[in-house]
Amino acid sequence: MNWPHSKSPLGGAFEEPEHDGMHRLGPMQRISIPRRRFRDEDVVDYVIVGVGSAGGVLLQRLARAGFDVVGFEAGPFWDTERDWVSDEAGSHNLYWNDLRIIGGKDPLALGSNNSGKGVGGGSVHWAAFTPRFHPSDFEVYTRDGVGADWPIDYEDIEPYYELLEQEMPVAGPAWYPWGKPHGHPYAPHPMGAVGDALITGCTRLGIGVSAGGPVAILSASRGDRPHCIYRGFCIQACKVGAKASTLITHVPDALKHGAEIRDTSMVSRIEIGKDGRATGVHYFDAEGREHFQRARCVIVSGYAIETPRLLLNSACPGHERGLANSSGTLGKYLMAQAGNVILGRFEELIRMYKAPPAHALTEEFYETDPTRDFARGFAIQTVGPLPIAFAKQMMAAKGQWGWGLRRSMMDYNHWAAFGLLGEILPWADNTVELATGANEKDRFGLPVARVSFNLHENDKRLIEFGKNKTMDVMRAAGAVEVVQEQRFAHLVGAARMGKSPHDSVCDKFGRTWDVDNLFVMDGSVMPTQGSANPGLTIQSLAARTADYLISNHSAIQSGAKRSLEEPGIRKTLSPPGTFRSGIPHLR
Ligand SMILES: Cc1cc2nc3c(=O)[nH]c(=O)nc-3n(C[C@H](O)[C@H](O)[C@H](O)COP(=O)(O)OP(=O)(O)OC[C@H]3O[C@@H](n4cnc5c(N)ncnc54)[C@H](O)[C@@H]3O)c2cc1C
Ligand code: SF4
Repeated sequence: MNWPHSKSPLGGAFEEPEHDGMHRLGPMQRISIPRRRFRDEDVVDYVIVGVGSAGGVLLQRLARAGFDVVGFEAGPFWDTERDWVSDEAGSHNLYWNDLRIIGGKDPLALGSNNSGKGVGGGSVHWAAFTPRFHPSDFEVYTRDGVGADWPIDYEDIEPYYELLEQEMPVAGPAWYPWGKPHGHPYAPHPMGAVGDALITGCTRLGIGVSAGGPVAILSASRGDRPHCIYRGFCIQACKVGAKASTLITHVPDALKHGAEIRDTSMVSRIEIGKDGRATGVHYFDAEGREHFQRARCVIVSGYAIETPRLLLNSACPGHERGLANSSGTLGKYLMAQAGNVILGRFEELIRMYKAPPAHALTEEFYETDPTRDFARGFAIQTVGPLPIAFAKQMMAAKGQWGWGLRRSMMDYNHWAAFGLLGEILPWADNTVELATGANEKDRFGLPVARVSFNLHENDKRLIEFGKNKTMDVMRAAGAVEVVQEQRFAHLVGAARMGKSPHDSVCDKFGRTWDVDNLFVMDGSVMPTQGSANPGLTIQSLAARTADYLISNHSAIQSGAKRSLEEPGIRKTLSPPGTFRSGIPHLR
């Protein structure tokens, strides 16, 4: 019979056994999803909007600490065996594909280049590169006079980097030389041909390179998760369960400790009471019915576009410009990293698909170099586009179509791809606003996001230099033809944290300056983005904020004066099996 309760996009397409509450997360992981635990009229301790990279970690920590917590997720609760396919085209429903309006001089392509939609969020489709930010990232303005400083230092987040690297866990070299040198808990991965090319090119040019990580993919089995089988479908969601996503690393533990996840439930507005505090959230369920869930504290973890959109859609008397927007910075300082793809043709076979896309990189150009004509820097990483992505890149890079494109497609196995990852600075004119057109609404009648993006002079110089350097590395590796496509990756910012309520949306723990019991915690809080992939930092920040909420729970829930001290790390809240191996200690 068809599974009557399925909310998955593919639900009903296959014969399913009677729904027994069991759910599959990879071939060896089965979890039981409890039915509804809390009623709308119950006042729960925490509501989390969005169960993605940050939301999944917050949910798990707060549930383990014993709080009543409900996570709202606009997308489905994936059953990986039923819903995920080893097919590039079939994986497109992992993304937030709903209408968004793009603009500015350099519009960002969205769709498959932004947030996820479904439990696990963007960690389901990420490539899982997990470099840390460098100490310099937290004081960009002080060092270089551009961008902004963070309200925290590297030392504040370092213990959480170490913890999340264990929880995911991260595979990589025992000695990682850039930023603050450190090791990794799991051994590095073997090299695919693209990694070999990056290592060859860098070595011939005298550029240091990291082989085999850092990447949150198992290089050895752990508990009920098997090791990587090098099938290259990481960005299409790893059906094997070797790649970390909060869906498999944190959500099962959250459910075990009493968290409720309400999937296919879209939060439309945060309600503010007469006392100026958040009282709960309005949401639409899978059938489009509107409800209100009461809560003592609301945390928004919806990604750098949906977080500002929800806060703007929650405008109300006293907050006419949007919630938490007294500074006027909500929706501003959106960032994306320069993500040019450099493609090189080799005489020998490469077969890009035969490895995780993420397995080697260099951060040799990460820091500001006074001999260059721009501030900040970039990384060069392996990427492994599958055939559809490759075809799009060839169209963009060579203007190919028809037979020309077909010939390139037949040549796919000879091509390697590197990704530039360049730091674009936070600018006030890169924005998320509400669209105002009559047809610019979603199926619930809510205005969609209008995303505007413009490159500035520093960004353009950085991209030009980084692109040329990456092409040099590809040539040095032996490529006989090198082409490139300009693109962007990893949206963050637009609800940034800061030291002052005058120029930021929230404080160093994500508490909004304007509403005592309203927090923002996801990639949108980042004041700058470095040229490291943001996922590890997002999950580490979420774990730190969870510790803060636990330490200051009574004050936050009552509105009493709270401490602003670092909370102290709670390793006892990690998912089971985290500490089976230790991080190598460096002298
Ligand atoms: C192709 C690709 C590859 C990537 N590779 C890497 C990588 O290798 N390393 C890395 O570090 N990063 C990578 N990233 C980026 C990374 O995935 C994101 O930075 C990260 O997942 C963002 O975390 P988040 O918590 O801010 O948002 P998300 O993880 O996107 O979570 C937000 C969640 O909130 C839900 N939501 C939003 N609004 C609402 C609402 N109103 N009601 C209910 N639910 C809502 C969404 O459905 C979503 O599930 C990649 C991204 C892409 C697109
Ligand atoms: S390459 Fe490894 S991590 Fe990526 S999809 Fe395959 S098994 Fe999963």
